[in-house]
Amino acid sequence: MDGPVFLTAPAGLAPAAAGRHGAAPWSLLCDRDGTVIENRSDYVRTPAHIRFLPGAVRALARATEAGVPIVLVTNQSPIGRGLLSLGDVVSLNRLVTDALSAQGVRIAGTYLCPHAPADRCSCRKPEPGMVRAAMDRFGLDPSRTALVGDSVDDVLAARRAGVQGVMVRTGRGAQHAVRLAALPEAAGTPVVADLAAAVERLGQIFHAAGDRSPAASAFRQETRRAEA
Ligand SMILES: [Mg+2]
Ligand SMILES: [Zn+2]
Repeated sequence: MDGPVFLTAPAGLAPAAAGRHGAAPWSLLCDRDGTVIENRSDYVRTPAHIRFLPGAVRALARATEAGVPIVLVTNQSPIGRGLLSLGDVVSLNRLVTDALSAQGVRIAGTYLCPHAPADRCSCRKPEPGMVRAAMDRFGLDPSRTALVGDSVDDVLAARRAGVQGVMVRTGRGAQHAVRLAALPEAAGTPVVADLAAAVERLGQIFHAAGDRSPAASAFRQETRRAEA
């Protein structure tokens, strides 16, 4: 397995349907473990390990309603470490996307990196390979795309791919926010409570960016000052 693995969700958008931001206000690349479902230090390995974080499903349903294409982007090193087969991880991810679909969430697809860190691949976050692959496949505009995750590696992958990164404090986020604060490369990255707060913040960021009126740019400058 050289590159990342792409999985279409059962109710996935055809690539063209999400493409070129026709009607999409912005696009959401979303980490899975620690952001949508609970993170486990020994990995999500069985169906019983799949536990949705509070508010995460509703947040994704709201993004779906707003016409935001959603792509899951997940490091799955248990495959590379020999703990799970690719088939195991595909089945587990299918349970996640089926459950989301049943709650009104449309997932356009999932990118997963099956490699272990020692493989030195170009898809495992913090490398930007999966983000770039998702943007290519769905024709996403980097200036209107965000990657939300609970790890410094999510933020760095976003930065390296040229999209907006947002860190959530769920999962490993509370610890990683401390590491993030010490990284000059990640300066200015919003850190928010959870996925619901991230979706809300991104709606504001991209709404303001889409409004070219003088009032909007003044607002952006003030926001930037307030966050600085
Ligand atoms: Mg994570
Ligand atoms: Zn990889």
